[in-house]
Amino acid sequence: MIIPNSISAKCLFCGIVIEIENENELNIKSGDIIKCNHCAELNDFDSIKRVAEKELENLVKEEFKEYL
Ligand SMILES: [Zn+2]
Repeated sequence: MIIPNSISAKCLFCGIVIEIENENELNIKSGDIIKCNHCAELNDFDSIKRVAEKELENLVKEEFKEYL
């Protein structure tokens, strides 16, 4: 089973993966706002995280289905 070891943060407005610089990533905390480097919209980190977690959950479910 392949489980990604990192969550890719996707912009809630344009859907593109937001590239987070490593040093900034360490400083990101709940409630922070991340500016998309594509459409320049401001994303709420908590929302991005929720979406990413949901996607990860679905991914794991899909993988698991093959073993049923
Ligand atoms: Zn965007």
